[in-house]
Amino acid sequence: MLGLWWANTAAVAGLDGWLTGAGRITGLLAGYAIAVLLLLMARIPALEHGVGSDRLTRWHSMGGRYVVGLSVAHTLLITWGYAVTEDTDVVGETVTLNLSYPDVLRATVAVLLLVGIGVASARAIRPRLRYETWFHLHFYTYLAAWLAFGHVLATGNEFIANPSARLAWYALYITVALVLIWYRVLTPVRQAFRHRFTVTQVVEEGPGVVSVHITGRRLDLLRAEPGQFFRWRFLTRELWWSPNPYSLSAVPGRNELRITAKGLGDHSRILARLRPGTRVLAEGPYGSLTAGRRRRRRVLLIAGGAGITPLRSLFESIPAAPGDLTLLYRARATGDLVFRHELDGISARRGARLHYCVGPTSVVGDPFASRTLAALVPHLRDHDVYLCAPSAMTAHVIASLRAVGVPPGRIHHESFEF
Ligand SMILES: Cc1cc2nc3c(=O)[nH]c(=O)nc-3n(C[C@H](O)[C@H](O)[C@H](O)COP(=O)(O)OP(=O)(O)OC[C@H]3O[C@@H](n4cnc5c(N)ncnc54)[C@H](O)[C@@H]3O)c2cc1C
Repeated sequence: MLGLWWANTAAVAGLDGWLTGAGRITGLLAGYAIAVLLLLMARIPALEHGVGSDRLTRWHSMGGRYVVGLSVAHTLLITWGYAVTEDTDVVGETVTLNLSYPDVLRATVAVLLLVGIGVASARAIRPRLRYETWFHLHFYTYLAAWLAFGHVLATGNEFIANPSARLAWYALYITVALVLIWYRVLTPVRQAFRHRFTVTQVVEEGPGVVSVHITGRRLDLLRAEPGQFFRWRFLTRELWWSPNPYSLSAVPGRNELRITAKGLGDHSRILARLRPGTRVLAEGPYGSLTAGRRRRRRVLLIAGGAGITPLRSLFESIPAAPGDLTLLYRARATGDLVFRHELDGISARRGARLHYCVGPTSVVGDPFASRTLAALVPHLRDHDVYLCAPSAMTAHVIASLRAVGVPPGRIHHESFEF
């Protein structure tokens, strides 16, 4: 992008030259970054498995801030630069640009949409939104990319007289669109026809927590691994329009998958009312919290609350000799522990250590202080650690592990926050 600008700019002179130059660069970078952001969220299996969905989401949200910042800067700088060139005021130039330049009004709408999505994703607002609202709001990014696309080619000096640059720009956006359609639309539909996912039963695991058992044909072809998740679209009147992510809570079988959800909001609560026979679209498997990441013989799994789901399936399946596998499961109260019977059984069968850390920190102390952890898990430094918990607990546990010398490359974590 910078090369395009460089090749097209003979000299930068005067205030207007600097403003317009900066406006062009920020615009080119914003246009390129939108394409990259969309690609990060295209559910490309190599990225989902290699990088991990939650890291991709973090990159996407960080990149999103840059895109919003660059787009706003581009709009302001170009308008100001043109106003200086034409010796007019910024408001008048804004009206002229939007009404007389091709496709600029559409691009302005695109910037407003991006700012709206950015505001809704801000840390202060995001926790107040429902998953579904947040998810659907992001569809406006596609609209924004489409609205902004034309003005780049119609008004960008770098493209007007440069057929190769136009071709590259088309190629970039068409590739991104095809990848999105392939992985986010066609793949789930193809999987639904191929595997015919259907709910077989819903089992209450504890207060507000249910397991949904899903059957299907030749599920082994999915190559799902313990620790991974799918985005599930249950085809009922209330749930068909939102594909919420839930991890596999049992080792995936040839004909059955199981997920377990804590009822936090509309989607997760309605799962308890699903009827056997309900058809399901499943997107996945995603996630890199899998046995393949492990480097050492000893493995420590640390679960907080609903984070037990992916770790429950790893606890059952990750290869480990007796004594080499430990699970720490943190819950606020004994009643909040799920799979207790199953976990006790797995622990006995595999010779694995299992510690329930139950109760408020003010009463039971901090089980994840580095000293406590080191005392609880012999040879702690020599473990691969898998962690799935709420963000505050995750940050605290990672700091403690780092303090006792577990290198970051051996701490594998996934967040349920979106
Ligand atoms: C990769 C991944 C795997 C997941 N696996 C599981 C799983 O196995 N079991 C499970 O129970 N959940 C899991 N989740 C979380 C689950 O997807 C969401 O809790 C659920 O989709 C929220 O939808 P809802 O309509 O029930 O709640 P909403 O109506 O969207 O939310 C209600 C309220 O709860 C808050 N909230 C909802 N979910 C969360 C969350 N995860 N963290 C913090 N605040 C939240 C919202 O901000 C909102 O204030 C996973 C999430 C991800 C990203």
